[in-house]
Amino acid sequence: MNSYRVLGVLAGVWAVSMATLLVLPHVAVGATAVLVLCAIGFGAALRAARISGSGTMARRAWRAFAAVFPLELVTLALFLVPGSDRQFPAPADLARLAIVGVLLLAAYSFPMRAVSALERRKSVLDVLLAGAAAAMAVWYLVVGPYVGERPGVVAAAAAFPVLDVLLVLGFTRLLRRGTIAAGSVTVTALAAAVLFMFCFDAWTGYLASHGGDTARDDRYQVMCVLTWLTLLAAAPVLRCGEPEDASALAERCVFRPAVPYIAITVGFGLMIYAATREQSAFPWSGLTLGGLAITGLVVLRQLAVQRESDQAAATDGLTGLANRSHLRDRLIQGLERDSRGGRATAVLLVDMNGFKQVNDTQGHKAGDQLLIGVARVLREAILGADVAGRLGGDEFAVVLHDIGSEANAEAVARRIVAATGEPVMIDGRPVRPSVSIGIALSGPGEFTADELLHRADVAMYHAKRRRGDGGGESRWACFADTMGSGDGPSLEDELRAATAVGQLRLVFQPIVGLPDEELAGVEALARWEHPRLGLLEADAFIPLAERIGVIDDIGRWVLREACSYARRWPQIPLHVNVSARQLEEDGFSAEVRAIVRATGMNAAHLVLEVTESQLIVDEVPRAHLQILADEGIRIALDDFGTGYSSLSNLTTLPIDMLKLDRVFVATLDNSAEGAAVAQAVLRLGRVLGMDLVAEGVETAAQARELTLLGATKAQGHYFARPLPASEIDGRIAAWSDNRYGRSLRA
Ligand code: C2E
Ligand code: MG
Ligand code: MG
Repeated sequence: MNSYRVLGVLAGVWAVSMATLLVLPHVAVGATAVLVLCAIGFGAALRAARISGSGTMARRAWRAFAAVFPLELVTLALFLVPGSDRQFPAPADLARLAIVGVLLLAAYSFPMRAVSALERRKSVLDVLLAGAAAAMAVWYLVVGPYVGERPGVVAAAAAFPVLDVLLVLGFTRLLRRGTIAAGSVTVTALAAAVLFMFCFDAWTGYLASHGGDTARDDRYQVMCVLTWLTLLAAAPVLRCGEPEDASALAERCVFRPAVPYIAITVGFGLMIYAATREQSAFPWSGLTLGGLAITGLVVLRQLAVQRESDQAAATDGLTGLANRSHLRDRLIQGLERDSRGGRATAVLLVDMNGFKQVNDTQGHKAGDQLLIGVARVLREAILGADVAGRLGGDEFAVVLHDIGSEANAEAVARRIVAATGEPVMIDGRPVRPSVSIGIALSGPGEFTADELLHRADVAMYHAKRRRGDGGGESRWACFADTMGSGDGPSLEDELRAATAVGQLRLVFQPIVGLPDEELAGVEALARWEHPRLGLLEADAFIPLAERIGVIDDIGRWVLREACSYARRWPQIPLHVNVSARQLEEDGFSAEVRAIVRATGMNAAHLVLEVTESQLIVDEVPRAHLQILADEGIRIALDDFGTGYSSLSNLTTLPIDMLKLDRVFVATLDNSAEGAAVAQAVLRLGRVLGMDLVAEGVETAAQARELTLLGATKAQGHYFARPLPASEIDGRIAAWSDNRYGRSLRA
């Protein structure tokens, strides 16, 4: 039957029994009505369990709830047994106790709606507020007045009201958080039933403790029980009228925001009432305690709300990124900090191409999804202290701190451009967002936030112009370029020529042993001495070199140059990075062998670092690695833990060493979670008999924790930055003078 019709039947049964109770004997009417209500409630609850098929938690909750109705029949039967005395705890009381237990079980079995941590904290405080108010009511009405004089009577009278406080906690939680297993109307009916039961029990408790008449044949009591049962049976009936996945219906609930206000009104209302009515002092111990608890909870809640509104004021509602004013504030602070530290700050202004078209042709919803997609790209492109924000419309900005050179900012722009190449699915159709990025850089104290934003804006328009109107692809431009010759050679062309014109350099970063920090190797890292942009780090041009296909030339140059230098340090292992692209070339291993012979490099001291990549599973790269290993050259897996190679590679490839990526070193904070990956990789390395080098060690604390975890080699700014070969010469001399316990940092 349609659930609206069943609701109508419930309402009809309730109305008819209320009316007839006034004239007919209430035991007969009450018993009949309870039977009908319980049958409807039980059937509906089982059906609700069935349609909540997706989650076992939801199913368990509704099944537990269904048990309330047979238990209610048992309670009724026990009440009707002639001569059953009402001395607490009578058998009927025990059955009612079971009902409370079952309701509690159901309340805590409903799977909660997912909410933010802040919202969760607020809802916990609201639940405690409701509990405090309910406890104050129980104290004032039932427990307080006679607790000193007639403890036995009071205990019997208070048993149910006190248990009901637990129910109030459980169902306020359900109402306040919302469950994905029922819509908010259903939950409201449940909460109303529990609130009604609480009021009823508090009232009977009040009568009992004040020596009033609580005989079971009280007409009004029957009316209350029937009302309660009607509300309770209505909940599963309402649920049956909802779609299986009720999560959308759980979002909105008119009573949810009212919970704390109702609780505060009840709590302080009781205090005002007692102040005006009571002559004796009995209520004040409990009421004052309750009042203090409520005040404390309200203060905590206020703090949570304050934080929430601070956060809301700083974020863009659609994308969750910083909004314009917050981004500007962060830029101002960042510029100040960077200029004090003598560092450069960059702004990337990211504007979407053709956004208006998507909005106009596919609707605002599609436009919103596209904006959310771009926001995700920006969020993933930045690190730690950097900030991404939406300035408005389809315009975004990224603030990069301590960026070093313009080329590093360009590297970020390149990452963003590459990531926006991935299509975003909109209504099942892939849409490829495209962006124009303007880059502006400020040296220490050079520009204000607004000047920098303006420059990025100019550069962004320059990028848009270069794109022309027809092309869809993303582009970036630097403000410095818009001012300069404008049509000079592109960075790509310059990189193609860089090896030939002698602009590449090598630096060497020491790898040290732990804990003595003695020199245990050096890693050769490429640098590009760009005539206009200054000295560029590998991150700023190696990915570009891979993309435009000049990495082979560069890689060959690096290996030859590094091996030639290494003749000066014959006792020290030399690490050289090899790009996955190089491994794809048929002649790679032969070339390496030739260079090793030509330079007189000791093969046993050469370590080639390859990054984990899909390529390693291909046949050609595998064969190269095997040939090189047979030659005595060692292979290290670089940036281990961030790539996507399978663990089986570790046993099937000739790998001698793992380099733990610096992201896992950065998380070391003396906690078990922070050390989890580092520890697992260390253990893996030990089991497989591989050497392990931890990369990117920046602090003494990280070095200490790695030592404690059993790491024997490490590399990072804390020990030494990448250095020119001449400085390595100096340190090797010092190191061989004093072999033991000499720190490189000295
Ligand atoms: P990698 O092999 O993992 O090199 C380590 C990178 O981390 C280097 O950046 C180094 O300067 C940096 N680094 C070292 N210690 C620290 C630290 O304590 N903190 C932080 N934040 N960074 C640290 P670089 O030189 O920019 O190199 C980046 C990547 O470029 C290298 O990662 C490597 O994969 C690649 N690469 C560098 N030189 C070459 C090369 O000659 N050929 C090829 N194919 N790739 C190279
Ligand atoms: Mg490396
Ligand atoms: Mg690495």
